[in-house]
Amino acid sequence: MWRALDILFPRLCRVCDTPLADDEEHLCALCQEELPRSLYHLREHHPMEERFAGIIPFVRADSWLLYSRGSSVADMIHDFKYRRMPSLARSLGRMMGEEYMVCGVLGGVDALMPVPMHWWKRACRGYNQAEELALGVREGAGLPVITNLRAVRPHRTQTSMTLGGRVRNMRGVFGVSRPEELDGRHVCLVDDVCTTGSTLLSAAEALLAAAPGCRLSLLVMASTV
Ligand SMILES: [Zn+2]
Repeated sequence: MWRALDILFPRLCRVCDTPLADDEEHLCALCQEELPRSLYHLREHHPMEERFAGIIPFVRADSWLLYSRGSSVADMIHDFKYRRMPSLARSLGRMMGEEYMVCGVLGGVDALMPVPMHWWKRACRGYNQAEELALGVREGAGLPVITNLRAVRPHRTQTSMTLGGRVRNMRGVFGVSRPEELDGRHVCLVDDVCTTGSTLLSAAEALLAAAPGCRLSLLVMASTV
């Protein structure tokens, strides 16, 4: 059945449009290999950790890929955010989880926590891409996903805002349910993109205010630096 469908509608790589092999999902092996990994964890200069250092306490902050406008990474993020492709986010999350488990970036993490989306936006989109990514990381790294963080109010789109405006816009967006469950645990927040870091910062502040005994790491699929 699948073979017949593959002949009629061949599954193509999202990046280079070549037909995919049976064991490939969304990306061919070559494009998967060539994804622009940040490799921050191997470098002395770590822009993700520098971005949050001194602002909030965290164990690790990392971005798997580098984001740039017009790149294949930007196209894939657009696909899974706006073109109803949650399985692409899941698949990329799985790759990220597998690689981070091998290199130790997720070492000591007790649970993954996707950055939540307000229920109305989630209902309109049909899914939350950060949750799909986290579910992929769960498959790749074998860590549980918990959802104690909630978006208690919607926020305006932030693309044209200054950093100060973004921070103000995100204030009070997140709430924490059952904070006692987080006490003493090392929780890794998971999101798709980090540009200014205002969303991660707001989520982290809400978590630490509600559960000060919780330790936090921050992980995104791609960041702009
Ligand atoms: Zn390809």
